[in-house]
Amino acid sequence: AKKAGRNAMRFFDQQMQDNITARAQLEEQMCLALEQDQFRLYYQVQVDRQGRALGAEALIRWEQADGGFVSPAQFIPLAEETGLILPIGDWVLEQACAQLHAWRRDPAMCELVLAINVSARQFRQHQFVEHVRHALQRYHLPPGVLKLELTESILVDNIEETIATMKELKALGIKFSLDDFGTGYSSLQYLKRLPLDQLKIDQSFVRDLATDGSDQAIVSTITGMATSLNLDVIAEGVETQVQRQRLEAAGCLHYQGYLFGRPLPLAEFEQLVRRCGSA
Ligand code: C2E
Ligand code: CA
Ligand code: CA
Ligand code: CA
Repeated sequence: AKKAGRNAMRFFDQQMQDNITARAQLEEQMCLALEQDQFRLYYQVQVDRQGRALGAEALIRWEQADGGFVSPAQFIPLAEETGLILPIGDWVLEQACAQLHAWRRDPAMCELVLAINVSARQFRQHQFVEHVRHALQRYHLPPGVLKLELTESILVDNIEETIATMKELKALGIKFSLDDFGTGYSSLQYLKRLPLDQLKIDQSFVRDLATDGSDQAIVSTITGMATSLNLDVIAEGVETQVQRQRLEAAGCLHYQGYLFGRPLPLAEFEQLVRRCGSA
């Protein structure tokens, strides 16, 4: 038994070692990816009830030299741990503002609002507001075109500081969406105090909308709450007409999901918007 225990221990060590090596490799590859410009923004359309484009969510993609893609679900968490999310986040912000700038000159695209995802670490860094201010200035962006998606966990942790930072950003014309809404703490106490513009209903509530009556009740409740707090509401992960209809019946009138468009490279996204028109 002693021997087996030792072997198990050795096996465990080996696995841990492999894990550490794999992570170190991924970290090194991420640094290279930044240098070699391997990150891309994909754009997923957000639509109104008539199916017209209101804007997009920018989602990062990592296109490796061999043509393979690494999912953000794989590398964003590690980037957050290692701090690489800071330069990556700066890249996303810069890229998004440059794109908004280009869209200003295109009548088909000039009304779009672009949302980017912001990590806790990025939001908490001291220069974050300055970075945003500079990016907006560099590209001469008007108020209201850049939206930041934040999660509940970012917001509740040190709420006074969060509110102060949000107010500074708000003064620059930034909009805020509360991402993955319903999966976190959702206390009405703080929800009321945060200068938000939008609640984004998490896709877990949308998924079973056709079959799960309680999800329909949840969506109605979130929508009612959003309305009384004077917030927009959008549902993500909308894949079917039935889900869309249930959402509409529950009062949710803005949608994002494969039913309307997958996250797309720029050229394809622009084609999609030209086809469906903008709101
Ligand atoms: P998220 O912000 O909740 O993004 C929504 C995810 O749902 C995206 O996954 C999107 O591709 C996917 N999705 C969209 N429509 C549908 C649908 O109809 N059905 C289903 N099943 N999924 C749908 P993605 O692109 O793999 O991104 C995963 C997560 O990675 C994001 O979750 C976000 O937390 C993070 N992420 C992505 N881009 C960035 C970024 O630029 N910065 C940061 N900090 N995080 C990012
Ligand atoms: Ca998001
Ligand atoms: Ca989300
Ligand atoms: Ca999510």
